[in-house]
Amino acid sequence: GKVDYKADQKFADHMKEKSEASSDFAKKKSLLEQRQYLPIFAVRQQLLNIIRDNSIVIVVGETGSGKTTQLTQYLHEDGYTRYGMVGCTQPRRVAAMSVAKRVSEEIGSNLGEEVGYAIRFEDCTSESTMIKYMTDGILLRESLRESDLDHYSAVIMDEAHERSLNTDVLFGLLREVVSRRNDLKLIVTSATMDSDKFAAFFGNVPIFHIPGRTFPVDILFSKTPQEDYVEAAVKQALQIHLSGMVGDILIFMPGQEDIEVTSDQIVERLGELDNAPPLAVLPIYSQLPSDLQAKIFQKAPDGVRKCIVATNIAETSLTVDGIMFVVDSGYCKLKVFNPRIGMDALQVYPISQANANQRSGRAGRTGPGQCYRLYTQSAYKNEMLTTTIPEIQRTNLANVVLLLKSLGVQDLLLFHFMDPPPEDNMLNSMYQLWILGALDNTGESVNLNNGSTISLTGREEESDQVREKFSVPESDHLTYLNVYNQWKNNNYSSIWCNDHFIHTKAMRKVREVRSQLKDIMVQQKMNLVSCGSDWDVIRKCICAAYFHQAAKLKGIGEYVNVRTGMPCHLHPTSSLFGMGYTPDYIIYHELVMTTKEYMQCVTAVDGEWLAELGPMFYSVKQAGRSRQENRRRAKDEITNMEEEMAMAQEQLRTRREE
Ligand code: ADP
Ligand code: MG
Repeated sequence: GKVDYKADQKFADHMKEKSEASSDFAKKKSLLEQRQYLPIFAVRQQLLNIIRDNSIVIVVGETGSGKTTQLTQYLHEDGYTRYGMVGCTQPRRVAAMSVAKRVSEEIGSNLGEEVGYAIRFEDCTSESTMIKYMTDGILLRESLRESDLDHYSAVIMDEAHERSLNTDVLFGLLREVVSRRNDLKLIVTSATMDSDKFAAFFGNVPIFHIPGRTFPVDILFSKTPQEDYVEAAVKQALQIHLSGMVGDILIFMPGQEDIEVTSDQIVERLGELDNAPPLAVLPIYSQLPSDLQAKIFQKAPDGVRKCIVATNIAETSLTVDGIMFVVDSGYCKLKVFNPRIGMDALQVYPISQANANQRSGRAGRTGPGQCYRLYTQSAYKNEMLTTTIPEIQRTNLANVVLLLKSLGVQDLLLFHFMDPPPEDNMLNSMYQLWILGALDNTGESVNLNNGSTISLTGREEESDQVREKFSVPESDHLTYLNVYNQWKNNNYSSIWCNDHFIHTKAMRKVREVRSQLKDIMVQQKMNLVSCGSDWDVIRKCICAAYFHQAAKLKGIGEYVNVRTGMPCHLHPTSSLFGMGYTPDYIIYHELVMTTKEYMQCVTAVDGEWLAELGPMFYSVKQAGRSRQENRRRAKDEITNMEEEMAMAQEQLRTRREE
């Protein structure tokens, strides 16, 4: 992003001075005071009693009441950690990291010692860890290795109202674990009132309500529908800022791109005004480096207002004190299975009424507040769903299927889900796995490993200069590999990274992931063979894992999905974009839908590879032609085999019914 962080830098310097000046003692004392001021503190003993008397308890409390940061510590103080760790799951990695950091400060230890966290590819815990925050995905993986979760004396499933895919699966698994282990405590927390459903699911377990302490929030709807929510949000934020009213601002945007544009615009327009009061514009989204994420929690210097621009991470996962104004775009990004293209797509959707209410609530935590909704009252009433559809009912279930199969769950359709996914989704995912040859084989494929190592770099790096310099014309994946190799040749130097507009941190992460994947391969006794300079092998590997996501050239620079015939476009960040080189077939890593359907991270492949590696999808008609003609023909006639697919799917279904 090109956000001007000048105000921000001043702010950071100020914070540094301030924290250096205050003694450790003063800091500790004020943290303790902060803990005791939280609504949950007033009911600490009652909570511990009810947890002692029951295996499973549902805890409901407003966002910011102290559930995430305090419950773990209460259990620790009450002695539970003598018998195992207290684990706390989060649907979002940012939350797991940020909260662990906060709690380690409150306890007064270094992060990774008594209090640690684990997210995919990053384990910040040690032998001495007693409180462990983690994503729900991590706990799921742990349950693979240790189905009774013997390392834990208590598990808190936080943010259950989010109904993330992993949380929903964990619900089913943990219900069983608790029935086998009567020494394990399970606490399920929710910020909203759908707790009855949770309680019923776990067998009419008790619900504990933390009394709230909130202030009234004025809700102001837009009078007419807004055409451009970014523009509307920028205007609204500036208006608030220049009005002279005191208090910090929180803007909700669907995703990173909108957040960056909004932040840029606010800084830019403010810069055009004479004598505008200072404003610290602080973006937060999951891909933001964690040191920048931490900034939203720091107190601004006197006279500087904070304006946080966030995804729905700030809806319930993270609580920032001092917010008086909320500006709500009315949108969020959701991963939704799109039957038209046969896979998940991250797309911008209108939020639900429940989201809207959570968002406005953020303005009333420290005093009365105001919420500006950039949509009409009628849109709220008539167009928004009451609550968001749980992820399990709207996404691809391939990973869930694979995991449950690995856990030995025989009939997936009988697995105990709180809200079972549509049967077709389940069968579709099983079918997809069968195609990939993964359903009967739970080990990770070498090819897939390659794919993920390479693609990870891609997310982090977008600078134009680098793209040109390192570009491998036929592949984004290889472009990233090229970047990595050159970095390696330069002794993993951070100066080299800076010189080439590359995030050192991202590269280190890639290196770390690479070494972890290598470890897995060694563990699994796979051969480690380098492809040397033959990068076609890599393209073929990528093709083996992604052949179901293929597109073929149709017209100049235009592609259509091979399976569905839907038009799809090269993303402007791709090395293939605007290079004048347009291969006949490409595979893509991800489909993103904004104004158009864009393929992100693409690699050129041979038409024949598609037929060879994905025979259940594509066939080549070659009989009775010259070799040369065959080559040409092969391109034309790599066709999808929808009919055969439908038949195979039907067979799978019948097999199941038998
Ligand atoms: P809940 O889980 O009920 O929403 P939390 O335990 O997350 O509540 O938050 C309790 C308090 O701790 C809030 O007032 C919040 O501002 C503070 N807090 C949480 N995380 C951090 C952090 N990383 N830095 C500073 N304060 C934090
Ligand atoms: Mg919380």
